[in-house]
Amino acid sequence: MRLSRYFMPVLKEDPKEAQIVSHRLMLRAGMIKQQAAGIYSWLPMGYRVLRRIEQIVHEEQARAGHIAMLMPTLQSADLWRESGRYDDYGEEMLRIKDRHKRDLLYGPTNEEMITDIFRAHVNSYKDLPLTLYHVQWKFRDEIRPRFGVMRGREFLMKDGYNFDLTREDALHAYNRHLVSYLRTYERMGLQAIPMRADGGPIGGDYTHEFLVLAETGESEVFYDSEITDLKFGSRDIDYDSVEQCQAVLEEFTSRYARTDETHDEALFNQIPAERRRVARGIEVGQIFYFGTKYSEPMGATVVGPDGQRVPVHMGSHGIGVSRLLGAIIEASHDDKGIIWPEGVTPFHVGIVNLKQGDASTDSACEALYKELKSQGFDPLYDDRDERAGAKFATMDLIGLPWRITVGPRGLAANKVELTSRRNGQSVELSPQEAVARLKEIYQPVFDAAK
Ligand code: ATP
Ligand code: MG
Repeated sequence: MRLSRYFMPVLKEDPKEAQIVSHRLMLRAGMIKQQAAGIYSWLPMGYRVLRRIEQIVHEEQARAGHIAMLMPTLQSADLWRESGRYDDYGEEMLRIKDRHKRDLLYGPTNEEMITDIFRAHVNSYKDLPLTLYHVQWKFRDEIRPRFGVMRGREFLMKDGYNFDLTREDALHAYNRHLVSYLRTYERMGLQAIPMRADGGPIGGDYTHEFLVLAETGESEVFYDSEITDLKFGSRDIDYDSVEQCQAVLEEFTSRYARTDETHDEALFNQIPAERRRVARGIEVGQIFYFGTKYSEPMGATVVGPDGQRVPVHMGSHGIGVSRLLGAIIEASHDDKGIIWPEGVTPFHVGIVNLKQGDASTDSACEALYKELKSQGFDPLYDDRDERAGAKFATMDLIGLPWRITVGPRGLAANKVELTSRRNGQSVELSPQEAVARLKEIYQPVFDAAK
């Protein structure tokens, strides 16, 4: 993309309405625009990152054997009356009447609808196990939408639902989700710690939330500092292996890590004092096993091996796709702006032309731009007629992890400068070497997608 032809309305001033850094930087970098309280347009820069995050979610769901589909945002109230949640959900649910005075709602989650799909089409235990998911907009009429996309009213969520014959099978599905979520967040450059949590309106007492540690997080968390040493890394997991998934669950949940709803002071105090941590975290996902809570009242049953109909065991599993942008920025920024992890960056590399209009500098930039694109990169070429300082400030603000600076002086010796946004360090390389270096840097990111 050429910046001169792009739409990236960066702000010079700090917007007054933003209380936390991620919200401020998303507005300043021209990523989002608020349209009503808690409702945002995703401008091109923001939309790019949103899609990258969504793409990682899809890839990791496919790897775990889960099946993508898409359900509508609007749902019929009748389904929710069957489960009893139409009245229970309260004011967070946005209720709508159509022209025939039928009650609809903008879905805050999809347990009822997926259960309805299941009961219409699945009849036998032989069709299990089954896990279906979608990535779709949700609406929750939050009392206090705030912090930008972090607590929106309309927000994008991945929600998945497993259907199993037995409790044991459903717990394997639970563990499989835990493993796939660990991989998902690490690919985004995040450490998200599974913590024992509370079921809330989804229900069930078997649940973990995934939290990214950050001072601005809304949840208070209590944990054993040893847990922050755990990495999932690039280990190869057989998602069908009950033992392997169980082992990962045990590894990542055996140390104390809880949100305030389930915190147990006595247990916490058994951890050596120097490892006890009280901190704040951002909830970026949650997994639940809730057994037959929805399948029983809604009649989602299958014929079991003995010919008897039994309600299926279910769980649901959510990732806050749009909230993740805020969480990643909270975890990765400095006073100049965002620092995108390579896995989610909107563009892989920025090209800064120090002397726009100079024929040889322009043509060197053009050649580099074309070469990067032909090698599978998404470069952002700052080809505007601006001062170098302004171009650098923009690049730092929008946070591309790598920048190539091209100027006449370097070019005389066939050199450009490759700079890391994270530590500011630069190396002088020939344009060919710079491309080769970027290929090495991004190889793990491209490999993780395979
Ligand atoms: P919270 O406790 O933050 O209100 P929740 O526990 O009600 O969230 P879940 O039903 O577990 O949310 O939804 C799955 C994920 O969707 C959450 O882990 C979170 O990342 C995201 N999410 C929930 N509510 C919002 C919101 N208002 N804005 C943005 N993302 C949200
Ligand atoms: Mg939750």
